[in-house]
Amino acid sequence: MLNDSVRKDFLEKLSAGKCSHAYILEGPAGVGKAETAKWFASALLCSGRNPPCGECLACRKVRDGFHPDLHWYGGEAGSRKGGTRAVSVDDVRSLIRETTMLPSDGDRMVFVIEDANEMLAGAQNALLQIFEEPPQGVYLFLLTESRKSLLPTVRSRGQTVVISGEPDSVLAERLRAHYPDAKEKEISAAVRTAGGSFGAAEAFLQKKAAQDRETVRTWMKATFEGSRYDRLSVIAMPKYKRETLLPLLDLFFRMTSDVLLVKSGGQPVLLEAGEAAGYASRATKKKLLSVCDAVAKCRARVDANGNMTADMTELAVSL
Ligand SMILES: [Zn+2]
Repeated sequence: MLNDSVRKDFLEKLSAGKCSHAYILEGPAGVGKAETAKWFASALLCSGRNPPCGECLACRKVRDGFHPDLHWYGGEAGSRKGGTRAVSVDDVRSLIRETTMLPSDGDRMVFVIEDANEMLAGAQNALLQIFEEPPQGVYLFLLTESRKSLLPTVRSRGQTVVISGEPDSVLAERLRAHYPDAKEKEISAAVRTAGGSFGAAEAFLQKKAAQDRETVRTWMKATFEGSRYDRLSVIAMPKYKRETLLPLLDLFFRMTSDVLLVKSGGQPVLLEAGEAAGYASRATKKKLLSVCDAVAKCRARVDANGNMTADMTELAVSL
């Protein structure tokens, strides 16, 4: 997130006609560098009385990504144009050509280069001439995870704005609020890998959750549609870690409860309706209750430091 004092400082310099024309926005992946670049672009292109007003046509065009004087290179935009995320020498040449044209709407043009850290030395060198002295009305923003990955010559020409991630405790608090079902261990693993970025932490949790769901769906299939051999091979054979097995068992319990719910005329919470109805038509209520019971007992044994292989084999056999 962009510091309030940085915003204030930029706006003051802008109205005094003293702001720099070349910026390096530095921050970890997912921390909001592109959003921040849009804020700067709005501030520069806004036609309202208090830039960035967020309401004028220019601000709305920036927000929706089609302002003709906001030129975006690299990142998602680059991949969409059929190129790679990294900006090439050719891209830089076309950028330089664009800077020599007149703005469409106002008297300023903003150029953003995403993933600038992935630019090869040749592309960075080509950029140097324009980054050093942008033409009148042209503003450049390089987005990078680390300014150290830029050539020293580029680094020294731009003004660096650090977009800091959130402190771990704040990030964990936000994750808990957004993902009330996530286990504390998952939250701390997400925070550890996220480098202060909520986006990165969220991606970690979502990926983990999707993987868990897939695993437990294979357990469900083996339990209600498979053979004893299937159950042994998908439930008992894999090697588990205790901290990852407990959430899987919880999920197994909840998915089976889902089937019970459907059996009693309710709507499933975790399973897709068709899937839950399929299991419900095959299993009796008694069977479903006994699966829930076996899973709960297994979970208690695993939690009490039981031998996980033995615990999971006993579970697979009892299903
Ligand atoms: Zn505006």
